[in-house]
Amino acid sequence: MKKFEVTILGSSAALPTRSRNLPAQVVNYRDRLFLVDCGEGTQMHLKRNRIRMGKIMHIFISHLHGDHFYGLIGLVSTYHLLGRKEALHVYGPEPLEQIIRVQLEASETTLFYPLIFHTTQHTAPEEIFNDGRISVTSFPLLHRVPTTGFLFREIPHPRKLLRDVADRYGIPVGAFDAIRAGNDYVDEEGNCIPNGLLTQESAPVRSYAYCSDTGFYEPLADMVRGCDLLYHEATFMQDMLASAREKQHATAVDAATIARLSGANRLLLGHFSARYEDLQPLLEEAKAVFSQTELAEDNATYEV
Ligand SMILES: [Zn+2]
Repeated sequence: MKKFEVTILGSSAALPTRSRNLPAQVVNYRDRLFLVDCGEGTQMHLKRNRIRMGKIMHIFISHLHGDHFYGLIGLVSTYHLLGRKEALHVYGPEPLEQIIRVQLEASETTLFYPLIFHTTQHTAPEEIFNDGRISVTSFPLLHRVPTTGFLFREIPHPRKLLRDVADRYGIPVGAFDAIRAGNDYVDEEGNCIPNGLLTQESAPVRSYAYCSDTGFYEPLADMVRGCDLLYHEATFMQDMLASAREKQHATAVDAATIARLSGANRLLLGHFSARYEDLQPLLEEAKAVFSQTELAEDNATYEV
């Protein structure tokens, strides 16, 4: 199986605790690294997890509440001090570029490397990255400021050609690409060899969805449908439901409900309020709705 995993750098909500940092995580797809959110201290947590910072080329910021991006200027500066040359692509809401540039200007820093911003929009899903192996789609969440989640999805592989069968039928090499694309083979005399005889399905595609921060938002279930691993915020327990609704955050039960509605395989809860020292009751609430639920732990890696 090709590597597809996520390492949690921070699973706390707005306030850090002794064991939980501010939101950030790294998605690793076949050793290509993507940073998702960048709370304060993220560069230290990358180091602690021995993640090679220089390999990060793409950073995705969900929204502009400080706990999700106050680490970005520090990371951008560190790359500069380390003499980075490769372009760094940052995806996020519109004012982000202005915020970072004003900080660089104030310190009279001219970066050694290209820093390229891509504005996300929060009204509809949009593919924002695709390298032929994996795609990243942003999608709207329900929060007090414009916020998007991110869906990482493998690109479907072409069907696998059964070379020995193709050779037995004397099919020319020039026809292989069309067969891999799903076409039948028709020879010069008009004989048809069905695609199903010549190919087999390749491995199913896997996907990972990141949803933080959001209130309970039912359309989300369609936007992340069938994902293998769903990370969903669970700031509060059910007794804080009124507060969750008011602040547009989710409860553990909300997160589990989205997991169930979307047909996700597994749910990873995160973005926990610092008020909870023991998260087991929160986990129990979610599990009553969706059994395949885990609590995200800082510095832990989860396979997609
Ligand atoms: Zn927020």
